[in-house]
Amino acid sequence: MVPNTFINIAIDGYSSCGKSTIAKALAKDIGFTYIDSGAMYRCVTLFFIQHNIDLSNDQAITDALAKIVLDVNETEFLLNGKDVSNEIRNMQISQLVSKVAAIKLVRTKMVAIQQAVGNSKNVVMDGRDIGTAVFPKAQLKIFMTADPAIRAKRRYDELIAKSENVSLAEIAENISMRDYEDTHRSESPLRQAEDAIVLDNSHLNPTEQLNFVKDLLSSRQLIAL
Ligand code: C5P
Repeated sequence: MVPNTFINIAIDGYSSCGKSTIAKALAKDIGFTYIDSGAMYRCVTLFFIQHNIDLSNDQAITDALAKIVLDVNETEFLLNGKDVSNEIRNMQISQLVSKVAAIKLVRTKMVAIQQAVGNSKNVVMDGRDIGTAVFPKAQLKIFMTADPAIRAKRRYDELIAKSENVSLAEIAENISMRDYEDTHRSESPLRQAEDAIVLDNSHLNPTEQLNFVKDLLSSRQLIAL
């Protein structure tokens, strides 16, 4: 196997920890490509809902996956050519996505796409299994966590700003359900990679978080500050 000459930065952690905010800001700051792997699972979930796919039917899942073309870039998510960036954030998707993401057939396809991107350019990728399964040799792995109540409030504010009709209790329950499902599934469960650095951002603003990660990159001589 040809060694990967590109730099892969893996940012994993619990739901609604602000992984994508820091990953996006970091990628922009250092000129890397940002990939939101969670959005990919959300797109698949949307397709499965739209086509009434039975999650216990492997053949139906295989056939559906063959029909999915994802174009995930920094600003928009195209599912078979249609921009679904807003749709994939709604509560219906959030309620089902962890179940879809637990399916081996789905993960195999998503991981192959993610690895192909990471083998062709410098990326910052956020998700649940990036440091453990997608890029086990990532040059930097961050594991993000934050107080669950703070996470729920942040997510609530985000959805309210987008005029979604949600309650704080409903969001808190969804976050705790997804954390449970993501950490207890058999396929690539969410866990901290042994060589990951923990970032608890409960009381850190985005600039402090960005500086924390950039200092790590600079101390590993992956970027010049
Ligand atoms: O990151 P986000 O919360 O949008 O991810 C949605 C869901 O996709 C997660 O709750 C998790 O179940 C799944 N996921 C995953 N592996 C990843 C990224 C997301 O299983 N690498």
